[in-house]
Order: sequence, then C-alpha cells, then structure tokens
Amino acid sequence: MASTQARLGQQALAVLDVALRVPCIFIIDAIFNSYYDPGSGWAGAAGKVLVRVMGVLVSGMVLLLSQKALFRFYTLFSAVLLGAAAVLINYYAASHIDFYSAYYKAALGFRLLPRNGPTLWLAMAAVQLLFAVGYVFLLDLQSAFAALVVLDVMVPLWGLAMELPADVRQLVAVLSGLALALNTAVCLAARLRCFYYSCRYVYLLVRHMYRIYGLQLLLEDTWKRIRFPDVLRVFWLTRVTAQALILVYVVRAVRRESGDGYLLSWDVFWDLTSNLIISGCDSTLTVLGMSAVISSVAHYLGLSILAFIGSTEEEDKRLGFVAPVLFFILALQTGLSSLDPEERLVRLSRNMCLLLTAILHFIHGMTDPVLMSLSASHVSSFRRHFPVLLVSLALFVLPVALSYALWHHYALNTWLFAVTAFCVELCLKVVVSLTVYGLFMADGFSNVLWEKLDDYVYYVRSTGNIIEFLFGVIMFGNGAYTMMFESGSKIRACMMCLHAYFNIYLQARNGWKTFINRRTAVKKINSLPEVRDEQLRDIGDVCAICYQEFASSARITPCHHYFHALCLRKWLYIQDTCPMCHQRVYVEDEGRDRAAASNNNGGYAPPGGGGGPGVGGDQAAAAAEPDDELLEDNDSIEYDEDEWGTQNGGTPLEEDYINDDTDSTDD
Ligand SMILES: [Zn+2]
Ligand SMILES: [Zn+2]
Repeated sequence: MASTQARLGQQALAVLDVALRVPCIFIIDAIFNSYYDPGSGWAGAAGKVLVRVMGVLVSGMVLLLSQKALFRFYTLFSAVLLGAAAVLINYYAASHIDFYSAYYKAALGFRLLPRNGPTLWLAMAAVQLLFAVGYVFLLDLQSAFAALVVLDVMVPLWGLAMELPADVRQLVAVLSGLALALNTAVCLAARLRCFYYSCRYVYLLVRHMYRIYGLQLLLEDTWKRIRFPDVLRVFWLTRVTAQALILVYVVRAVRRESGDGYLLSWDVFWDLTSNLIISGCDSTLTVLGMSAVISSVAHYLGLSILAFIGSTEEEDKRLGFVAPVLFFILALQTGLSSLDPEERLVRLSRNMCLLLTAILHFIHGMTDPVLMSLSASHVSSFRRHFPVLLVSLALFVLPVALSYALWHHYALNTWLFAVTAFCVELCLKVVVSLTVYGLFMADGFSNVLWEKLDDYVYYVRSTGNIIEFLFGVIMFGNGAYTMMFESGSKIRACMMCLHAYFNIYLQARNGWKTFINRRTAVKKINSLPEVRDEQLRDIGDVCAICYQEFASSARITPCHHYFHALCLRKWLYIQDTCPMCHQRVYVEDEGRDRAAASNNNGGYAPPGGGGGPGVGGDQAAAAAEPDDELLEDNDSIEYDEDEWGTQNGGTPLEEDYINDDTDSTDD
C-alpha cells in the first residue's frame, strides 16, 4: 500500500516535472518562430537581439534545471507573479474606480465583480488576501514579517473602503507596491547566495561527470534526467491541440456567419488536418516534437506486435528509438522545416512512406526470430503459428499494396525508386523467412533425418543476403544520383557513408565470413573418414550430438567418436575439438600441426595421414576419461607457453600464435 502510494507520488512528481519544463520549449519555439524585423535602428535591433538571446538562454537554463531546482524556481517565479498581480489590481482599483459613476462601469473592465461599495471592496479584499497569503507562503516569510506584507497589500483597499480622494488612493497604492517590490528584491537577494552555491555545485558535478564518464554519457544522462522526449511530446501535442482548437473555432465562426451547417464537412476537415500537420513541422523544434510523438507510437506498435506474435522478448528496444531517429534524419536531410507549406506536406508524406517501409523492415526483424524458433522447436500448436504467419503475410501484402498505389499516382523519381526498392527488398526477406520456415516445418513432419536441410537453408538464406546486398548497392547508386542531381546536403552525404558502411561493407564482410566458415567446416568434415551401412549396423550407436540413430552414414573422428556429418559440421563452425573428448578433430595449417603435436604428444597424425580407425589404443583410453584429458591438454598448453616465453624471449609472432592457440582450446 505504502509502495503504491510512493509510486503514485513519484509519478505525480514526474508529470509535474514535465509540465513545468514544457513552457520553456514553448518560449524558445516562439522566439525562433517570431518574425524578426531588423529595420528599427541600431539600438533597437541590438535590444531585440539581446532580448531574444536572453530569452533562449534563460529558457534553456530552466529546461536543464534539476527537479528540485526547477520546483524552487517556479515557487519563486509564481511568488513574484502573485505579488505583481496584487499590486496591479490595487493600482487599477485605486485609479479607475470612480465612486460617483463607475460603480456601474465594471471594475477591471469586465462584469465579474459586484458593482456597489462594500461588496466590491470586500470581494477585492478576499482576492487580495488570497494573493498576499500565497505570496507569503511561496516566499516562506516568517510570521511577523508575513503579517506586515499581507497588511501592506491590503492597505490600498482601506482607502477604497473609506472613499478617500482618488489621488490619495493612487499614492497609497504606489507606495504599497513599492514596499512589496522592495520586499521581493530583498527576499530574492537573500537567496542569491544559495543560488551561487547550487550553481557551483552543479558546475562541479557536471565537470566531474564529464571527466569520469565523458561527454556522451553526460548528454545521455541529461537527456534522461530532464525527460526530454516526454517534454517534447507534451509540447508538440499541446501546440497542435491549441492550433486545432483555434482553427476549428474560426472555421465554425465563419460558417455560422455564412449560414452553412454546423458540422464540418470532410473537405474542410481534411484541409484543417493538413494545415495542422504542415504547421506541426515548421521548425527544427517542432520536428523534434513530432519525432518524439512518432517514437511513442512506434514503441507501442512494437510492443503490441511483440505481444501479438508471442515473442519472448518483452521490451521493444529498437523500434521506439530507430523510428524517430530515422524520421528526424530524413527531415534534416530533406530540409523539411524550411520548405514552403505546400511542398512541406508533399515532402512529409514522402518521408512518411520511407519511414513506413523502414518500420515494416523492423517488424520483419522481430517476426523472423520468432518464426525460426517456432519452426525449429517443432511446436505444432496452430495458435502459436497463426499470428506470426499473419504478420508475415501482412509484411508481404502491405509493401506490394503501397508500391502499387504509389506507382499508380506518381511518375518515377528517386524517391519512388527508393520506396519501391525497400518494398521489394522486404517482400524478398519475407519470402526467404517463409521458405526457411517451410523447410524446417517439413523437416519436423518427416521422421527421417534430412541431411541436406542445412544446405538448403544455407542456400536460401545466402541467396536472400546476396540480393539484399545488391539492393544496398542499388540504393547507394540512387542516393548518389540524388546527391548529384537533386539535393546534395552534407547530412545526405553522412547518411550515404553510414549506408555504405552498414548496409554494404558490413553485410559483405559478414556474408564472406559465413561463407569462409562454412567452407572450412565442410573441408574439415570431408577430411574425416565416413562410415557406411554395414559398419554402422555393427556399431549400433547413436549420434552423440542429436541422440538420433544413423540413417545411412556417419563420420568418425580420430578419437573414435561417431557423429552425423551435419551435426558435427554445426559444431565445427564453433570449435575444432571433438564434442565428446575435446581432442582436436582437425588441424588447419602447419603451425597448428606443431601445436597439435605438442598438445597430444603425437597421439595421432593430422587428418589425411592415417586417421580413422587406425589411431591407436591409447587414444581410446584417453577418451574414457575426457575430463582428465582436458586438464592435461590445458596443462600442456601452459607448459608450452612458459617454454616459449623463456626460450625464445616471446617474440610477438609466437606470442600471438600461443594466445591464439590457448583461445581456441579454452573456448
Ligand atoms: Zn546427429
Ligand atoms: Zn572424441
């Protein structure tokens, strides 16, 4: 119960924290968006610039305050506001209320206040008392002093009550206002020391953090501490809502005047929405706000899809981050906020299409592992398979529909080309995933071990990867074309470099590495002797990796252990030793030959040399005590290391070799 309350309290604090930071963003946004008119003389221009810079600086500082400092700042700020409001009301009432005629002119210009004597000043007294008490409370004044301040605020009202002449009342109001201003100044000055110390503390803290954690972590911490995404989100949503309310109000007023129906028609609604969207990305700040909103949409989309396909991953870590970053980069790259309104809408919808395809790619990235684990674990429940298959189908249909619709409406340009390429690539990936899934499922339904399965899966996957790589190259060409003939911004150049690194270079490298790994594994397997039908029946054993019987053939290691070729190959992708007794199964080159020779005391010849059945009896004995052998193995390596170190002075090359050797054995 207590913990629930504490949590609620923390949440309330967090909400307040965000709400108090949002006005800063509004002020900065207003300053950047306001029309700057330089044509008012040198001093005027300088003053305006100064006010703008000060406004941005102060708002920025308030935005970055810690929660405690933020609350304190707002306390002082609202105290000052309350005091100012009380003084202004006093002054206004003292100078504008005319006892002989103005009872009927509403006080304060509107008709909320009562019109006759005692009711007027009694009501005002209540309001001023509230303001004064609020002021005293927020500034945390001591009791006697507080009473004086409240009295000071109420004095002009007595003049009002006693119906003193207007100029006396005015003088009293001004004097009371000055006294209050003086009091405020003293109170603020008394806090100056505290302010200085907290500034110094913050400065030291930031310097310390910068030295220990570096700039990136410092920024990350600040970003999280001030809840910047939330602040941006609230800012953007509030801004758009306010604009929507104003627009709807204006449109309705116009329609009422012209006598049209009260309800908005579809066209008007569409107009309003597009106007809102256009003004929702008219500056870098608003684009940031829009990205923050996209982030939460993408985050919840990711979460719901994960839940729908029954993924074991509970948190969507990537989509809520990648989608907004991508959106923001696209906006920067296309100069979204500086375009003309009409053009901006077109550009925005184009960016959104690209973003949508990227999000679909990510969703495919989420479904693929689930699909694979379902097919590999032979879960046969239809209810588990159906959602994943449905999502995969949607991932195939959506891009097709999208590119069909776009081709229907637009002529070919670089943007349409990019979207289509993304769509085709996605369809291809889905087909590859589904094919692999089908292969595994077929394997699950047949009772015989399907030796070729791994090869087929590899072929399908690598075909998919090669085509994906080609698409990456094509996209790079498309980007280069755009840069040369359409818009060559620096951001685009950076993005092209990133694309070239991640989508072309890394992919090619990984593909090549997989290929080489596989080729060596196949080579290793082929170097081991094969045991056929007759001998197999004599052995009557099962494969020690998958515990299934040998269908037609098995491979035998130099240490006399039998495995399926496929099972052993998977193992050999990772390491070179027998899974049962940890003896070296295959040695690659001469350097390793020597290592093997010293490790195994010449126990068996390298493969190709008379491996297989003729290995020798001592090896069979060693196999019976795999743990001891393993220890011995390690010992001998340590011994080797010492020997090399003392005898040869540990030249770098040999050290490398030894380290390499130790690694591969300890793995
Ligand atoms: Zn097996
Ligand atoms: Zn073995």
